[in-house]
Amino acid sequence: MIPFDLHTHCTLSFDGKSSAEDMVRRAAELGVKHYALTDHVDLGDHADPDFDLEATVSGAKKLLPALREKYADSIDLLYGVELGQFVHAPELAKKLLSENDYDFVIGSTHNIRGYDDFYFLDYKEYDPFRLLGTYFDELLESAETADFDVMGHITYPLRYITGDFGINVDLSQYAPIIDEILRALIKRGRGIEINTSGLRQKFGRIFPDEWIVKRYRELGGLILTIGSDAHCTDDLGKGIDEGIAVAKAAGFDRIAIFKYRKPTFIRI
Ligand SMILES: [Zn+2]
Ligand SMILES: [Zn+2]
Repeated sequence: MIPFDLHTHCTLSFDGKSSAEDMVRRAAELGVKHYALTDHVDLGDHADPDFDLEATVSGAKKLLPALREKYADSIDLLYGVELGQFVHAPELAKKLLSENDYDFVIGSTHNIRGYDDFYFLDYKEYDPFRLLGTYFDELLESAETADFDVMGHITYPLRYITGDFGINVDLSQYAPIIDEILRALIKRGRGIEINTSGLRQKFGRIFPDEWIVKRYRELGGLILTIGSDAHCTDDLGKGIDEGIAVAKAAGFDRIAIFKYRKPTFIRI
């Protein structure tokens, strides 16, 4: 049994590989108890040109509540969204949140203003340390102003800077602003996630590193979710056990799940 997996994608996302129903059915087979589909809704000028906002949002709205009903006896399906770059289009973001009855909203930053997704950048051309400085500035802005339940994969750019380009980054140089981000999240009652996707990628670590999860707890943070960020049925539930171990080591004895944007807690 897998107690939860609160970050996954299906073909409603531009990069998803399995259909929503295949994901839900497989999650139920694996014994995932609380399961969220959180498809990408990326806002701002640098969102993928193939991304059709309307189709994604209305597709999820039609599909997920129906699947939640259909599989109600075998799985607790949560209707989620991974909302990217809230602060690049705050009015649109607020409108989307008011028009859709999401259970759970992950607030992610995949690109900073004026740049493409970190996935596309050539770190021989750009100074990764300067980009990271701007990235954390934007996370702080997001922590202080955006509406979401948990901030997604806080160290996301390292998936590419370190994982793909082999550039080691000592995050301690960003510790003061990471502290500010965590304090702002806590003050506004928002959480963070442990995203286990890095464990099965070249990066080889969770997002964020354990010390950041620990720091969030030390500062008084209580809202922590865990998700695999699976984009296909094969990756469902992967790394959740490791994520739970990290959460425990960081001082957590319970993990949040969300229904209608309200957290409830599962003991670990
Ligand atoms: Zn993401
Ligand atoms: Zn994701």
